[in-house]
Amino acid sequence: METDGTGAASIGPSSPLSGETRFSPPLLESALSRLRREFFPPRGGVGWVGMTGRRRYCLRGHDTDAAGRDSSGRCLICKREAMWAARAPAREAAAAARAERAAAREAELERLERERIEERHRRQAEADRRREREYQLAIKAGGRVAAEARWWRASDETLEAGRYGLCQWEDEIDGEYTHLCFNRTRSDVYCSTHNRQLEREIERDRRQRAKEVRS
Ligand SMILES: [Zn+2]
Ligand SMILES: [Zn+2]
Repeated sequence: METDGTGAASIGPSSPLSGETRFSPPLLESALSRLRREFFPPRGGVGWVGMTGRRRYCLRGHDTDAAGRDSSGRCLICKREAMWAARAPAREAAAAARAERAAAREAELERLERERIEERHRRQAEADRRREREYQLAIKAGGRVAAEARWWRASDETLEAGRYGLCQWEDEIDGEYTHLCFNRTRSDVYCSTHNRQLEREIERDRRQRAKEVRS
């Protein structure tokens, strides 16, 4: 136990922490420490506490009356800080493990997303090949089937290009309605040619019905 001539604890003003914590205001001192000082007046100066002979200020200048001491007299602030420092490697290892898990999760999500895109492309290519096979079979079959296949292909291509569709006019071929107009329309179902034809047919039907009613 060292004291200096001034009656203060051996921690001098050169201690880096002494300025902040060495002379704590009485408000911070526990009631217990005040009682203790009363019953056991300082022997070796204000740095000494009662009959215990323990220094009030630890080597780093903490007021142990306020901070507390463990059974061996060690300053509890220093003890907590030492324990915190001792656990630093474990904390860093845990943080590194967390970062590694996050990176692995991220990589797994990226892998799944890549697989999903590849699967979509694979299915798209498969559907394209199937459509092309069907188209070639239809062309080979000739007649109405080939005509219908040509129209649908042209219609798909026009729609994909955007803004236009093909006129959906159908005429009967071999007893079945078949698309056969390749004119583009912007919003109408039929092109202007077939719109006029439709009007003529409606007018013809109207006259036909009127004739039937009169006769
Ligand atoms: Zn301390
Ligand atoms: Zn048309």
